[in-house]
Amino acid sequence: MKVEVEGMHFSYNGIGVLEGLDLTVRRGEFIGIVGPNGSGKTTLLKNIGGVLEPEGGAVYLDTEELSTIPIKEVATKVAAVQQETTVGFDFTVREVVEMGRFPHLERFERHTEGDRRAIDKAIEITELEDFSDRCVNQLSGGEKQRVFLALALAQEPELLLLDEPTSSLDINYQIKIMETVRQLQSEGLTVIAAIHDLNLAAQYADRVALLSEGKVKVLGKPDCVLTRENIEQVFGVEVEVEESEVKGSIHIFPKTGNLRG
Ligand code: ADP
Repeated sequence: MKVEVEGMHFSYNGIGVLEGLDLTVRRGEFIGIVGPNGSGKTTLLKNIGGVLEPEGGAVYLDTEELSTIPIKEVATKVAAVQQETTVGFDFTVREVVEMGRFPHLERFERHTEGDRRAIDKAIEITELEDFSDRCVNQLSGGEKQRVFLALALAQEPELLLLDEPTSSLDINYQIKIMETVRQLQSEGLTVIAAIHDLNLAAQYADRVALLSEGKVKVLGKPDCVLTRENIEQVFGVEVEVEESEVKGSIHIFPKTGNLRG
């Protein structure tokens, strides 16, 4: 799915967060959204996913304007993993992942063989087989994060919106999840992810959008966007940027003791 954000405006209680933001995401592309805390990354994802409604501008999924697409249809095409999700009841991991199939079911319809395959695959990809009968509320933050990713994958979406997808994960799962997402991309999935770890964004995103003052300040390949100058200007911190040992990637590290007040 191709995504086009045109002139998006959004504010909370009259305080502007997104101020005429434009962004084009190609089908099968992984866009990393980076920017300081409070720069509007979550707000942008929620507007693209239809959770919030832009006050101005529009979002196009392929050629259709988001606000004209029935909610149920959006839910079959777009999946979102939010930063913090809570489950009100004592659902098991499998029950939560099964919820990913709801948009695909007609009223009162039972899961088909295809639904079960999607659920099993999502559980397998996120390595949750051993947890499937456990209550979600009894899992650690990182385990829960994998459950909600599994729910999103069970939806078999064309667009995956991830808000800090690996923030609670150890390095092993961080890499596994990013590699999984990359593999799904090669099957045509479009991914837009807010990532606070600039090195992770540099390694996995095809292009990076740097948010500042309610707009995309720069959009491009990670090494063109995550430059010393851009990071200093937007985050107010001095860094060194080096070519990474990982082919085609870069490594960013702060010059300690040089933080601006
Ligand atoms: P980011 O994801 O980049 O950290 P957010 O999109 O979460 O940024 O927030 C952008 C700005 O909007 C912040 O200043 C934040 O305090 C404010 N904000 C976010 N959600 C709400 C809300 N529900 N009500 C009021 N202000 C909000």
